[in-house]
Amino acid sequence: MWDPLSWGGRVRQPSPPATWETQISEILERLRNRGWRLTAQRRAVAEVLSASPVHLTADQVHQRAAKRLPEISLATVYNTLHELARMGEVREVALDGRACRYDPNALVAHDHLVCRSCGTIRDIPKRDASPEPTKEESDGFEVSSVEVVYRGLCRRCRLRQRRSA
Ligand SMILES: [Zn+2]
Ligand SMILES: [Zn+2]
Repeated sequence: MWDPLSWGGRVRQPSPPATWETQISEILERLRNRGWRLTAQRRAVAEVLSASPVHLTADQVHQRAAKRLPEISLATVYNTLHELARMGEVREVALDGRACRYDPNALVAHDHLVCRSCGTIRDIPKRDASPEPTKEESDGFEVSSVEVVYRGLCRRCRLRQRRSA
């Protein structure tokens, strides 16, 4: 069974296994060091993003941020997410024609588990490098990065299917 607390994609070596709290303060610290003005709204967006074990859509970020900051608008959430993406602090992940999700784990290479039913995207640590294509296969193509996507059903969707079966 997958333990969300041990999801190691964002643990940077050689630092000790980080808790969500230290990850959150890490990203806030980094943003502060880059001179990002940390308004309450931006802070709420950054905290919501990095506190989630799965990658959220803008709507989901807005719903969660509004629990702390009821006045925050969806437009502000979008602007903040785009700004973070421009800064390279979050990655926009769009798969299978679904709504874009925002990945706060932009600095560490990792792979993704993707639920084909609900679209949830979860980080997993990179496994050993996948074999690179041979010269004959790749027609001069030079590989600069590899991402692996594991498609399947998340626990929630599996339970829902079992119940309705
Ligand atoms: Zn699912
Ligand atoms: Zn990710």
